[in-house]
Amino acid sequence: MSKKKNRPHGHYCKICGEYKANEKFSGKGHAAHICKACSRLSAAEKAVTMDINRLMNFPMRRLSESEKKWLKAKMKDDCQEVADTAREIYNVCFPHAERNAMKKQLVINTLSFEVHTEIYDGYGDMELVDRRFTIDRKSRVLTMTDFQTEYGEQRVTLEGGEMAKLLRYIVHTLEIFMWEQDYCLNPDEEDYDPFLDGEEDFFMEDLEDGLEVQPPKEPEGSPSWRVQVEYSNHTVQDDSSYEDYLPERPEDLYLSLLEYFELKEEVF
Ligand SMILES: [Zn+2]
Repeated sequence: MSKKKNRPHGHYCKICGEYKANEKFSGKGHAAHICKACSRLSAAEKAVTMDINRLMNFPMRRLSESEKKWLKAKMKDDCQEVADTAREIYNVCFPHAERNAMKKQLVINTLSFEVHTEIYDGYGDMELVDRRFTIDRKSRVLTMTDFQTEYGEQRVTLEGGEMAKLLRYIVHTLEIFMWEQDYCLNPDEEDYDPFLDGEEDFFMEDLEDGLEVQPPKEPEGSPSWRVQVEYSNHTVQDDSSYEDYLPERPEDLYLSLLEYFELKEEVF
């Protein structure tokens, strides 16, 4: 019984990571575990080949600290191919890393949040909401405008700590900066021209034939909700939705902003 039964056939090359037949190795290369092809590479090429090889075989499990450290270092490698591959592997291993890195940098300066749709009010009823909230970090003023009532604009000024807490909640917990991606908002214009673009003839023919052709659904009228955010790093976010419901996190934002005004109303 061969001792090598469970091992891949041939001899291992530590550079390319392949098992190759013995004749692919020189005498010296055999001992050094470097195949003839790899021995012709320059030192830099050897290093790149080894790195790519290690990255391609990177374990898809919880990484040890030293593995993490190595992977992070490789994302800054001088060789672009190594750096790009390391970045890809890193994003697979740590899918939330990019979000978390962004969170640390993002501070909301101003926010405007409009809701014009039905919302489950938490007591078993659907309520038609037609409101706009604004937040201003510097003045710490929170406003609510209810377009359905005569109250007009109500405002509360938050304590410094309370304002910071609210803004942190919006970025860190609600991840507002990812809503466009998370809720597929503002799709590319190309998504809206299924057959009208360059196909007018087809469309007109169908109309002439008396066929009922539904034009592609385009956003009409005002959005059901819209969020505009200006961050301290001067980036601006402006997302609108035309779906007639409020997804989970925008609803959480709505309910938590509303609370500031409900508390105030109870006083009267
Ligand atoms: Zn090799």
